[in-house]
Amino acid sequence: MQPIQFRRPQADLVRQSNYSFVDSMRQISITTLGKRTKLAFTDKGFEKYFTEDWKLGTAKLIHNRGKWFLHIGITKEVSDFDAKDNPKVVGIDRGLRFLATAFDDEGKTLFFDGQQILRKRKKFLEIRRQLQSKGTKSAKKKLKQLAQRENRWMTDVNHWLAKTLVAAYGSHTLFVLEDLTDVTFNTDDLPKSLRNSHRSWAFFQLESFLTYKAQAIQSAVLKVSPAFTSQRCPKCGLIEKINRHHDTHEYWCAQCQYRCNDDRLGAMNIKMLGQDWLNGVKRPKIKKLTTVG
Ligand SMILES: [Zn+2]
Repeated sequence: MQPIQFRRPQADLVRQSNYSFVDSMRQISITTLGKRTKLAFTDKGFEKYFTEDWKLGTAKLIHNRGKWFLHIGITKEVSDFDAKDNPKVVGIDRGLRFLATAFDDEGKTLFFDGQQILRKRKKFLEIRRQLQSKGTKSAKKKLKQLAQRENRWMTDVNHWLAKTLVAAYGSHTLFVLEDLTDVTFNTDDLPKSLRNSHRSWAFFQLESFLTYKAQAIQSAVLKVSPAFTSQRCPKCGLIEKINRHHDTHEYWCAQCQYRCNDDRLGAMNIKMLGQDWLNGVKRPKIKKLTTVG
């Protein structure tokens, strides 16, 4: 085998015309510096991308710890989400006690527990406090690493959650979320020590992960107004703040006696707004009507 040489190690791009799979996919033929080299390779775990529907693009040849990797850019044509295609509608309420509560057309609810996340964040906070009180140079360095670790971990959680939601509901689904751009989060459920450190970026990250994962399977994410989603009775439509009991996490309608978990209630109302949108309402929103007379 000829050693592969590069002019500039950072720019080892291999254009699509300069590599091909030969010998019934057992070898790859790469042209570098005008020379063609045939090599055996392994595609373990990536087999599914070597199919007709994925288009291979420009690749990058990388040398790392004695091994050669060919990173291939791939693209796939997917059709867009079609609102007229009778999609499933899933309302998703994001929160702290539950990371997400999802309510679907069949009346089924999925709860994603947030307690474990809160516990872990509390632990991060404790370590952070200890390091802060030290104030040394090495403590400062560790603080920075700790913050990066926490962000990576939260990113992993969001990836997992978006993946799980997309897998649970599949293609042709309209995922409805609240538009949280101008919302301050209700941190009543958080331990006091965590209230100020709550970071909303995690909510927006979940939204963006879910958006692109949904797009890949002809699903879509719709954002709706969060107004009154935790106050409206899904049975009789009454909007009443005091129906929600924060201490017991219960919604209890004073008019029709409907009772349900308050996280589930949010997801139900969010789902309803998604249905409104499918029915032609441009900016679905729960409006509190004041009775006159
Ligand atoms: Zn009611």
